[in-house]
Amino acid sequence: MQRTKVKDLLSGAAAGQDVLLKGWVRTKRGNKYVNFIAVNDGSTINNIQVVADANNFSEEALKDVTTGAAVSISGELVASQGKGQAFEVQAKTIEVLGKADPEAYPLQKKAHSLEFLREIAHLRFRTNTFGAVFRVRNTLAFAVHRFFNEKGFVYMHTPIITASDAEGAGEMFRVTTLDPINPPKTEDGQVNYTEDFFGKATNLTVSGQLEGELAAMAFSDIYTFGPTFRAENSNTTRHLAEFWMIEPEMAFYDLKMNADLAEEFIKYIIRYALENNREDIEFLGQRLTEEDKAKPQNERQEMTLLEKLEFVVNNDFERVTYTEAIDILLNSNHYKKKKFQYDVKWGIDLQSEHERYLVEKHFKKPVIVTDYPKDIKAFYMRLNDDGKTVAAMDILAPGIGEIVGGSQREERLDILVERMKGVGIHEEDLWWYLDTRRFGGCPHAGFGLGFERMVQFVTGMGNIRDVIPFPRTPQNAEF
Ligand code: ATP
Ligand code: MN
Repeated sequence: MQRTKVKDLLSGAAAGQDVLLKGWVRTKRGNKYVNFIAVNDGSTINNIQVVADANNFSEEALKDVTTGAAVSISGELVASQGKGQAFEVQAKTIEVLGKADPEAYPLQKKAHSLEFLREIAHLRFRTNTFGAVFRVRNTLAFAVHRFFNEKGFVYMHTPIITASDAEGAGEMFRVTTLDPINPPKTEDGQVNYTEDFFGKATNLTVSGQLEGELAAMAFSDIYTFGPTFRAENSNTTRHLAEFWMIEPEMAFYDLKMNADLAEEFIKYIIRYALENNREDIEFLGQRLTEEDKAKPQNERQEMTLLEKLEFVVNNDFERVTYTEAIDILLNSNHYKKKKFQYDVKWGIDLQSEHERYLVEKHFKKPVIVTDYPKDIKAFYMRLNDDGKTVAAMDILAPGIGEIVGGSQREERLDILVERMKGVGIHEEDLWWYLDTRRFGGCPHAGFGLGFERMVQFVTGMGNIRDVIPFPRTPQNAEF
């Protein structure tokens, strides 16, 4: 007999028929007459209830059917008598494929803390919470490809190992095969990277953008979706050392078109998750609501997770310039009462507390901030006519802060070279990048969306370590 997934069993399509199911035992309870075994195979947040009659299954036969064990069960799918599920399986055969010693198996019926589950990340997939999170993550990833595919974007695989350290997005991880104890040295005592694997110093990429731009100058619209690495020692709930980024890059786009695309994209993938993972998101929402009950009234969320997501999908994002944002902050009571830790004045990089104030207190919706001072943004962002600001845009989301960073790119060779000089990047190092400004250059724009921050937003998970299967953070690369 062919195995049917739990999700399909629960649809009831096979009611009245014999079915075969395989999965992992979540719970077993029962009495003298009957045992109820809840089985999950990851296809849905819901378990299928298996009913094992004591007449057919002795205590001995069920002794290894314990939480965590892998089982193969056949029986008839019937309408359920009990509450909580529409269909259940009346077991005819039960085979234990893999035991899970109840004394040793760390996941028991009780609720475990997220911190504890992080230490057993290899098993946490089997909990309701992480099952839901990673199904949502999967759906979002699929939606990313679907969105761009529908729009005719070409998916580009940009390199993970890069020799340019000019991307400027953060500290990099070195990639080398040199002997760390005794590396070859140049005459002046430096490590001699010409003897390294690639004949030069290389790192893990912090962004695929520069290469993405090259491809956009041929395909018009491209996107990347791959891992990026930052050796920033920031132990926050929003930073990973290894995270996934989506970076579309579009020829003939200006900043407004860039912002429009980003907004449409974010709404599309959230809507797709709401349509395809409703039960998971509902479950995660209930989890948050429960968590909230332990908090004082003023710290509780105003909207449930579902309400928040519906709201984002159905309303326009707010758009303000950096200069307007600074004015809003300066005029806020929060500022006047000196409640910001970091000072506010034109020219500062917005701190997380400022971003959150704008999004959560002032506008109460996602905000696209544009036209930042040029000195706090990357060299490749297009200089505005005022000579002070660049055509940058950050999208700030409630509860997360910055979720997208993007810009219209500087397509004018002379200005680009000037800006590179200003930040100490040598023309020779980026000769290939500058070539796109020499040969058929055109106005273009793009952005980077941090995938994990997006997953955090949709799942409501507070810590970025809980939305990637095996998080890489300072002092932590287990599994
Ligand atoms: P932040 O100020 O939050 O550190 P950033 O300005 O360094 O972000 P960008 O270089 O613009 O970010 O990267 C684009 C996007 O990648 C960000 O908007 C964010 O969503 C995501 N991102 C950046 N750094 C990290 C990180 N360390 N871990 C996870 N996501 C990140
Ligand atoms: Mn950063």
